[in-house]
Amino acid sequence: MSSVVFDGEEIPLTVIRSDRRRTVGITVKESGEVILRIPPHISEEEAVSFAQSKAEWIFRHRTKFEMRERVERHYAEGETIPFFGRELSIRRVEGDKVRAEIIGDELRLTGPLGTGADVFCEAVVFLYRREGLKLLRPIVSEISKAAGVEPPAVRIRKQQRKWGCCTPKNGIILNVRILLAPKLVIRYLVVHEIAHIEHRHHQDSFWAEVERLMPEFRDAERMLKENGWMWVF
Ligand SMILES: [Zn+2]
Repeated sequence: MSSVVFDGEEIPLTVIRSDRRRTVGITVKESGEVILRIPPHISEEEAVSFAQSKAEWIFRHRTKFEMRERVERHYAEGETIPFFGRELSIRRVEGDKVRAEIIGDELRLTGPLGTGADVFCEAVVFLYRREGLKLLRPIVSEISKAAGVEPPAVRIRKQQRKWGCCTPKNGIILNVRILLAPKLVIRYLVVHEIAHIEHRHHQDSFWAEVERLMPEFRDAERMLKENGWMWVF
């Protein structure tokens, strides 16, 4: 079996011959499996040595996925979860109805014994959407004022990928996952979508407006790229 070595660790490769490919392809799956796709005109040795030259990249991606597993939430007593830049600790309380509420620095989860993590997850997302909106509104009106636009209607939705979008009617939709991010990132995403009201593209004039509204936006962008995968329910 073919493999690459990084930092003394041997990483196995699953080799797939592909007639349609023109270049060697490397994919790291969430399971940690590394797939090496090889076009007809390239030998396995050549492809493996190419993969070896990318060993650090492969290693980094596998590590990222391993860490992702560690972020998996169980909504168990004592676990922590961020909310709008602070860390809440989870308290589990027995009760007839499923309920999630924020009390001080606690996220109190009430429910019958044996309630699954998925049920609490749903309750928490619902709570975050409601409470998050209250905290977002003043930020939205402050930034709209600075941008010289009418404060847009804000909605928070559960989305897998997109962090936010600006609708044709100048409303903004934000991913509920941003409520797990640091405040700087939350603010940046609001700035980003509000800047889109007047600049419906990602050209220079858009970025100039983002920078004017938030000079430190690059730090937030970097955090988003590096840590965004961690902000999951
Ligand atoms: Zn954008």
